[in-house]
Amino acid sequence: MTETVGVDVGGTKMLGVVVSGDGSVLRTARRPTPSAGALVAGIAALVAELSSDGPVGVGVAGMVTHEGVLRSSPNLPGVADLDVRGGLESLTGGRVVVDNDATCGLAAEWMLGSAVGARDAWLVTLGTGIGGGLVSGGAIQRGGQGFAGEIGHMVVQRGGTACPCGRLGCWERYASGTALVRLAGGASRGFAHGGDVLDGARSGDATLRAVVDEWSGWIALGVSNLANATDPDVVVLGGGAGSDPMVATAVASVLGDHLYAPSHRRLPRVVAARCGERAGAIGAALLARG
Ligand SMILES: [Zn+2]
Repeated sequence: MTETVGVDVGGTKMLGVVVSGDGSVLRTARRPTPSAGALVAGIAALVAELSSDGPVGVGVAGMVTHEGVLRSSPNLPGVADLDVRGGLESLTGGRVVVDNDATCGLAAEWMLGSAVGARDAWLVTLGTGIGGGLVSGGAIQRGGQGFAGEIGHMVVQRGGTACPCGRLGCWERYASGTALVRLAGGASRGFAHGGDVLDGARSGDATLRAVVDEWSGWIALGVSNLANATDPDVVVLGGGAGSDPMVATAVASVLGDHLYAPSHRRLPRVVAARCGERAGAIGAALLARG
């Protein structure tokens, strides 16, 4: 199989990779994410820098249609109804696929990482918000328009904490990496990232241990909803804070408290993601194989 190109478009930077037929990363390149009007040309320039004539996959946070149109993105102000696939195919002259970034991360974990061999699996990314990707019956699911997996906006508390999406009580307000920092007291207590809180808990701080337990309970609540809906074999936890194996262990230990009929079923395995911060770019390249 020939090599393919993958690009992960983040809010501030883009990562591009060239992936070989066996899944190894051959080359990487990084560029700052351009403004909305220059986005497609900026992605094309990154692809050109990677010097590959293979097909291109692009992952971007937001609502991406089956046709590769980015309807809206929480990380890219000013982007709406942008035909990313059409624009890139014109500029590169090759075949392009565009997908949600969590779907790309799922592809990486399913084909190369912690969910290899699973017929039914979720990837749950716990970062600034929460993203999700679903494999059901051995196939990646995208829903009717391409917008499946926006699990961060499942409401877990009616009338709860305000979410940037404009609604109240969304799961990501309680269970994202951002939420972990907030539960621990935020920047005023010296916590910039969820990993800082996890490190404190790991080193024996009882207060932070309690914070991590509370946060893990919120994660388990949402994961149990996903498991009740789709009955997965495995749930992979990813994202900056979520891919710490301590989190998977903590969530697995309380999942049975939330799940429907836990004594009559095999509980889904809860495991840490393995593909790291390059998962989105690598997964985009894998999806470009078509
Ligand atoms: Zn929301």
